Amino acid sequence: MISNGSTQQFDKETIMAIIESIMCTEHVATAIVDGESYEILLENQLAKELFEEKLYLECQKIFSTSEVISMDCVATSSVDKTISLIRYSEVLDRALTWEISKIDWLDGKKAFLVHILDNVANKVPMSKEDLLRIHNIEEKNCLDSLTHIPNYSMFYTNAEQAILNNPDKSYAIVVFDIDKFKTINDLYGMTNGDLVLKFIADTLRDLFAEEDNYARMHSDMFAFYIPYGKKGDIIKSIEKIRKRIETNEFDFHINTSYGIFLADDLSVPINLMCDRAMIAGRTAKGNVLKFCAFYDEQFREDMLRANEIEKDMHKSLENGDFKMYLQPKYRLSNGELCGAEVLCRWLHPEKGLMPPMEFIPLFEKNGFILKLDEYMWEQACKTIRGWIDEGRQPIPLSVNISRYHIHHNDLEKVLTNLVKKYDISTSMLTLEITESLFLDKPEELNRELVKLQNLGFKLEVDDFGAGFSSLNLIRNITVDTIKIDRDFLDSEIASEKGKIVINHTIDMAKDLRLQVIAEGVETKEHVDFLKNSRCDIAQGFYFARPMPLSEFNKFSF
Ligand code: C2E
Ligand code: CA
Ligand code: CA
Repeated sequence: MISNGSTQQFDKETIMAIIESIMCTEHVATAIVDGESYEILLENQLAKELFEEKLYLECQKIFSTSEVISMDCVATSSVDKTISLIRYSEVLDRALTWEISKIDWLDGKKAFLVHILDNVANKVPMSKEDLLRIHNIEEKNCLDSLTHIPNYSMFYTNAEQAILNNPDKSYAIVVFDIDKFKTINDLYGMTNGDLVLKFIADTLRDLFAEEDNYARMHSDMFAFYIPYGKKGDIIKSIEKIRKRIETNEFDFHINTSYGIFLADDLSVPINLMCDRAMIAGRTAKGNVLKFCAFYDEQFREDMLRANEIEKDMHKSLENGDFKMYLQPKYRLSNGELCGAEVLCRWLHPEKGLMPPMEFIPLFEKNGFILKLDEYMWEQACKTIRGWIDEGRQPIPLSVNISRYHIHHNDLEKVLTNLVKKYDISTSMLTLEITESLFLDKPEELNRELVKLQNLGFKLEVDDFGAGFSSLNLIRNITVDTIKIDRDFLDSEIASEKGKIVINHTIDMAKDLRLQVIAEGVETKEHVDFLKNSRCDIAQGFYFARPMPLSEFNKFSF
């Protein structure tokens, strides 16, 4: 609760709603972005329209650029610095201006207030070349004032010239920074922090001598470019620098992480090359076995693919292109059909029938999973109602609940509204919750689950055994069923030890009065083994593959 100074208090939701309505009055695309994860916390209508809900993709890129990250070190309290960046947008294929300020956010968090100006809409013509020129004239003073080595502006110019003037050579851009530099500043003081930066600058100057192929980009981020024959040459250079930096006279460790971009596509602007090297560097961070990483073109391809999919998802949902498939579940003791799992397929107008792994992970990132799952749950309820109306004995259906729902949705409300709308019993719906979800905030999740269970919904832990939490989990949570992960069964059943593990898992679940389902049951051998192990229910290709409702109806009734 936050007080407004008088007697009235506002809760978080009210404050968010007030901020959102203020943002809607802005005449430019405006968003508030989480200071750590770069997730979009709020965005106004203009931002949604400009990016067609793909703003988060741009943010990943913009917020991992040197200029923004450097704000972290400089800005400490509310609105104390605003930066303005002109960046080429891959999503819109034109330049945009980003005005970014660091602000204090709710719950003591930091966030960024972002205004995005569309240069085309504002009649500012900007080509990629214009952008480069702006970078070059942005800063006339080309040496970094603290370390007196080249700054980023000089680096861009030098690197660009070297690459363009030597078309016969291959170049790599390497960007690196100091792990936990902020902690060094906090623990040993800014003076020592500055000494570390100077030491690194001296090391680079020493190693590269007169070449001017290196720079301090900002705060603790440095860069260099080198020609290379084999990729191994780049790693060797990095190892040399890293060793020299590690051998120092400071009382503390200086660890560095490196990101590498291979500059073989000359149409990529140099600042983008550096940004990409930095993105690569971030994947190496916090990984003790890895101090450097190459920028992976896969990252870009994934982004473009995601763009394509996102372009179509809303329309497909409206057009009913997401199809419900059902996979039957059988009771092992008597072979009776006792339920079915609802699985989604996307009948894409151009790409054909797409399996869920091609789109669900993306929808879990962009939030569309909320809409899709609610649609699938509604299909499930409608199906059960249909069976009842046709005078058939309805079969319980299980639906998948994704990670996103637990934190972003009022599950209880959505689900109860649906069962009411179709006038079906809550006991006809089983909610499959993947095991890894329980790792996050087990108490919060458990509270939610108890409510759902009290309403009569059946709960199932999906993918049981896939994570590390299984044993602890089974002790602490309220569910009705565990579903043993299909990989677990597949790989473990081959070994004697594996059989013992599954047997004991089932025994333990039974002692705790939990029902056990095995998924991925593919062979007669699986079935026999599971029967012997007192497993209750089986689902898998051995019995049937997931199928459309029309086929399921023929098959099951
Ligand atoms: P899941 O919940 O673990 O679903 C079971 C998956 O195992 C399904 O894959 C099913 O086709 C597959 N399967 C069933 N029997 C066998 C078998 O004998 N052998 C093998 N190798 N596989 C078997 P599918 O349909 O491709 O779905 C993959 C995942 O996508 C699901 O895993 C689930 O996590 C997610 N998913 C599917 N539909 C939805 C949905 O509507 N909403 C959400 N949130 N997730 C969904
Ligand atoms: Ca499932
Ligand atoms: Ca599963």
